[in-house]
Formats: sequence, structure tokens, C-alpha cells
Amino acid sequence: MQIKKIKDKIVVEIPFWQTSYDAVGQEVGRIPNIIGLIEKEVCSLNQLIDMSYKGKTPQLGGNLVETSLEPKGFKKLCKELQIDYIELPVCSRCFEAIWGVFTIDEEGKEICLDCDNERKINVGKKNRKV
Ligand SMILES: [Zn+2]
Repeated sequence: MQIKKIKDKIVVEIPFWQTSYDAVGQEVGRIPNIIGLIEKEVCSLNQLIDMSYKGKTPQLGGNLVETSLEPKGFKKLCKELQIDYIELPVCSRCFEAIWGVFTIDEEGKEICLDCDNERKINVGKKNRKV
């Protein structure tokens, strides 16, 4: 990454690609350096961390730029820049963005594990004879 001041602008240059290496340090290909992230209404460009050396898929890295775009405009920008994006699912019960594992409730809606655990406890209470 290079950061420069050109006239009255700060210009950040990030190579589009990064080289992937396997566990013994041999090149195995390349992946993008940047990925878009949509977390509810917050749209950002994030670093993508290559995990080929561990035989794993890339990992989401730090937030580089948080945009003021709404998801629709952000998706359009990502398409123009040929940057992939991830849109996090939103829990149908607590309405928080879901990071990682989630489940599907009996209505076919995505719910986070906290809400799923709460649902199981409540179902257990209803079935318990007092
Ligand atoms: Zn939830």
C-alpha cells in the first residue's frame, strides 16, 4: 500500500491482487486484496487475508474505508470496480447483522445463535409441566 499526497488529494494505492502461497511458500495463485462488506446499512471496503498457506479460504481483514453509500449504490460500485462483496445476513428476531454461523427457524428465516438459544429455552419452558 502506498499513500501519497498529490496536489490537494490523499491518494491510497492498493494493488488489486495479492499472491497466494502454500504451506511451503510456493506460489499457488492470487486473490484480490480488497473485498466489500455490507453490514446492514454500513458499507465498507475491507482487506482480504490470504489463508492458502493453511489450506483455508481467505479471511476478512480490517476495514480500510467505510463509505457513505447505501447497499444498492455500494453493490453498483463494487461491480464497477470488479470487487466482490459479502452481505451479512440479518437476524429476523433481533435485527442484528449475523457474523458467522446462524440457523433457520421454523418459518424459514435466518436467526442468530443467541436468538436461537433463547427460542430453545422458551420452547423448553412451554413443554415443561409445572
Ligand atoms: Zn438475533
